[in-house]
Amino acid sequence: MTYKRCVILLADGARADCFEELLAAGRLPHIKRHLVARGASVRGVTAFPSTTGPAYLPFLTGCLPATCNVPGIRWVDKRALARGRYTLFGPEGARSYVGIETFRINGDMRPEIGTLFQLLPRSYSIFNSVCRGIRPGGNRTRIMRIWYWYYAHLTDRWQFVDSAATDKLLALTRRDFQFAFVVFPAIDEYAHATDPRHPRVLAAYEGVDQAVGLLAERLQRLRRYDDTLIWIVSDHGLSATKNHFCVNTFLEERGIRTLYYPLVFKRGCVAANMMSGNGMTHLYFRHPDGWEGPMDATMLGRIHPGLLAELTKPPAVDLLAAREADGSILILNRRGRARLRLEGDWLKYEVDGADPFGYGALPLRMRADEQLQHTIASDYPDGLYQLAHIFTSPRTGDVVLSAAPGFDLRDAYEVPEHRSSHGSLHRDHMCAPIICSAPLPTGPMRTVDVFPLLLTMMGRAVPQKIDGRALF
Ligand SMILES: [Zn+2]
Repeated sequence: MTYKRCVILLADGARADCFEELLAAGRLPHIKRHLVARGASVRGVTAFPSTTGPAYLPFLTGCLPATCNVPGIRWVDKRALARGRYTLFGPEGARSYVGIETFRINGDMRPEIGTLFQLLPRSYSIFNSVCRGIRPGGNRTRIMRIWYWYYAHLTDRWQFVDSAATDKLLALTRRDFQFAFVVFPAIDEYAHATDPRHPRVLAAYEGVDQAVGLLAERLQRLRRYDDTLIWIVSDHGLSATKNHFCVNTFLEERGIRTLYYPLVFKRGCVAANMMSGNGMTHLYFRHPDGWEGPMDATMLGRIHPGLLAELTKPPAVDLLAAREADGSILILNRRGRARLRLEGDWLKYEVDGADPFGYGALPLRMRADEQLQHTIASDYPDGLYQLAHIFTSPRTGDVVLSAAPGFDLRDAYEVPEHRSSHGSLHRDHMCAPIICSAPLPTGPMRTVDVFPLLLTMMGRAVPQKIDGRALF
């Protein structure tokens, strides 16, 4: 079967287990009938950091965030920061896709990165900011998205945005479209304000189910049901947050003046803290002679003695990773210490004493795929590859922190308070549902594999040099 059209419904922040539980309880009848019964529902692994924006990239580009050079929802480009120039948004080289700068993600991606919008020219995008190469008129919410987001943010009516997404999708079905990417923000937004399993959040899953029902009915009426491929995916999970640990305060109390959002016009900073989903952060450190160039763990130990060890002490910090001068990554936490290296497709993982991830016995050298098989059922599925890979971006921090379940890494300046978080390497955030109206290959999948799979199902050539694997 070669599919003529493809629709991806991105249920932002949806947990794979919530989908499974609601399906088992009969609360998602349309998803069951039109997708699961004809196709498959699997637990996939998203990209680190498990956060909105960067974790959309795998679906749309077939590449992980570091390959796109967009390693977080906030980041710093030290080389640009070193110029010391300012724009309207803050220092040149500092970026946040939260709010007005959302769409800069398209210009920040490496120039050679292509998107499904380019490969499938009759494409549409709804409430999605990653839309490089979309033809004029293809972005159905180019200006409106910001209006909808502010309205929903102020009135807490995210279900209204999901309903608008459904209406806009249904309006497309009469067009001769090849691809539609539709974002449903309500699950993520309600969960941040309440709990990942709050009744309002679960009702938003049912809203996605209703969208599937209306879409299927419309496609059947137009005789387009059989040759339209439908996916429901998510960019990350979410877990309840009981405690906020303030990395900014931690650094500043040690005399390390730190640049962070929203206070990005602050002068004389020697560190930058760029948070993603609040469960992950990039830390950048300035050399005495300037911002340019990475600061490796040894050098950091000389400039801020004891800082790395101290950073592993708060219970909020689950994993700390730092660049080493030889290109390897030092991993530290309260459980243990290890050294990780990614060379091509090969990972080398040397545990020094106890394993910080707690994986148990692993080969010293293994391919990324073999590592995925070994770790898929653990608390950190695909953790070694994902952590090693993020360090392949020059915009990744000198130090990366991943939060422990129940904690996040941001306290002040988050309004309203986040009661759920994501972004970390933990399975609660890294597990993502992949539900498809067609059967899927067996074996563990990453969300980045969806891109080559759907192109194959549509009879299209899969581009070379992507991170997604052709699993068929
Ligand atoms: Zn998200």
